[in-house]
This record gives sequence, structure tokens and C-alpha cells, in this order.
Amino acid sequence: MEIREYPDPEAGPGQVVVKMKAAGICGSDLQIYTPSETPPFIAGHEGAGIVHEVGEGVFDLNVGDLVSIYHHHGCGKCSLCQRGLYMQCTERYGLNWHTNGCDSDYFLTDAKFCMKLPDELTFQDGAIIGCAGGTAYSAVKKMALSGRNSFVLFGAGPVGLSILMVAKIYGVKPIVVDMLEDRLEFAMKFGADQLINASQTDTLEAVMELTNGRGAERIMIASGAHQAQATAVQCIAANGRIGFVGMGATENSMDMNHFIRRQVTAVGSYVFPRLDYPEMVEFFVDNDIHYSDMVTRTFKLEEAEEAYHLFSAGANGKFMFGWDG
Ligand SMILES: [Zn+2]
Ligand SMILES: [Zn+2]
Repeated sequence: MEIREYPDPEAGPGQVVVKMKAAGICGSDLQIYTPSETPPFIAGHEGAGIVHEVGEGVFDLNVGDLVSIYHHHGCGKCSLCQRGLYMQCTERYGLNWHTNGCDSDYFLTDAKFCMKLPDELTFQDGAIIGCAGGTAYSAVKKMALSGRNSFVLFGAGPVGLSILMVAKIYGVKPIVVDMLEDRLEFAMKFGADQLINASQTDTLEAVMELTNGRGAERIMIASGAHQAQATAVQCIAANGRIGFVGMGATENSMDMNHFIRRQVTAVGSYVFPRLDYPEMVEFFVDNDIHYSDMVTRTFKLEEAEEAYHLFSAGANGKFMFGWDG
């Protein structure tokens, strides 16, 4: 992790330059922070800022517009891209993985990847919506949640907290499972009803007790730990629905016989369709959801090394970069 100087970018046809205002540090950034095969790019894929320059042929954005940035790009031509599902395009490429990211003073991108931010939301809100928050919204939408369902959330990191904020609007009383006490306590602020510390308690037993022995009708897993996935499958009620959101597990010890007998519906959810953005921000504004509420520290870019170091050690809440002025 180091600061490098680059010439300021210039907007070509169809492009815009964004003056960055807020950028999140995401769990997936740690995969490029820890030594890997990935060549070095400018980090960052959760950003928001102000349109600074628009290139030729850009008609729907003006200098001064507030925008959140969509971080998965695709070929733009296939049926998935046409539906805004850039993250599923076979030619997809992601900021800070295959191209430069947005942790910079000025960021160059295609206009179509800039999503207008309403006045009611902050730059931090917008940055988080661009990845963790949008991912959470899209995943919850697939869960057919209602206040009648028992609901368990595994993982109280930033994606888990975002899921909590959205799921609460559906009327659920969330039972939250995590290994870290400070994360669990923080989750109370975002509507957790019951907490299970998986490092101290038998999670399956605790869930069964809290659900009258039936298991949870809806479970979401915002953790990439295979143990969390395996336990979640044990905790599901008959005919329940389980949503897998956390990536990274390299092992799989899920009891598939249990899964089959319980007739579980499984949902995988990955990022969000670009075209869902307008309905999403309407939902956040109407329900007064501000993802910035979970930001526990804001760093300057110059403090990136410290920020990444602390974040990789399992920090609580969301870490952001911020630009003054
Ligand atoms: Zn992310
Ligand atoms: Zn495509």
C-alpha cells in the first residue's frame, strides 16, 4: 500500500471525471491487500463524488452532479449487460481488480457507471450503496421476508449491518450471529433483536431455542466462513429460505441431506443490477436508511496503510476514506 502520483485524468467520449468525496474500504479489498497474484492497481471500488468534467456525448450528467459509482463493468453488449447485470457478464471486469479503482483525488469512468445521488443521501451513503449497501438491498429483496418469519443473520460486518438496516423495514426481528462481541453489540444499534456469540454459544441450540424448536424460516449469511454456512444450513426451518451473500469459503461442509429433507430454497446474491439503483435509493430515502451510520472511522488517503492494517485485523463497523473541501 503506497501513495503514488498520477497525472489528472481527462474525460474522453462517453466518460466523466469524478472528484472523489468518499470511498469505502471493503472486505474484498483485503484480497488485493494481502500478497496475491493481482498486479497493483489504484485500490477502491466503493466511491462517491462530484462530477468534475464530462466528455463528448455525455448528456445525462452535468458538472456538479453528485454521483455514486458502479464498480463492475462488462462488455456492454450481451443480454446480461443490457439488463444492467454487468457483474455477470463473461467479460466483466472490476475496479481495483482489473483496472484502476477510485481511491484517488480524481477518478475517470464511463458515464453509464455513474449513478445520481439524491440530496437526501450523503457521499458516504452513496459510496457504501455502490457495493456493500447495494449488495445487501439486492440480497434482501430475493428473500421474500415478512414480519411473520423468524430471521437469522450470520455475520455483523458492514454487509451484515446493511442487511439488518434493510431487513428491519420488512418487519423482521433479527437474530444476529457473529464471533466477535463488539460487532454483536454494534449490531444492536441497527435493529438486532437477539444476539448469538458463536465463539461462546452453540449456535444451532440457541437458534432452536429462540424459534420454538422449528429453526429459522429465513437465514442470510453475510460471512464467507464455511463454518457459518454449514451452521446456517443446520439452523434452517422446514421449507425455509437461505441467502448466501458472503464469498470466500474454499471448503464446503454443508449437510446437503438436511438441506434436501427440509426442502430449502437457496438464494445466491452477488452485487446488484445497475438498473436497480433508482428504486434502491428511493427505498433508502423513503425509509430514512443511512449506511453512513455504521462508519466508525474516516481516514485520509495518506493514512491508507494504517486504515488497511486496522481493517484487516477485524475492525468493527465501516472504514472510509474522506476528502476535505
Ligand atoms: Zn466491495
Ligand atoms: Zn456483457
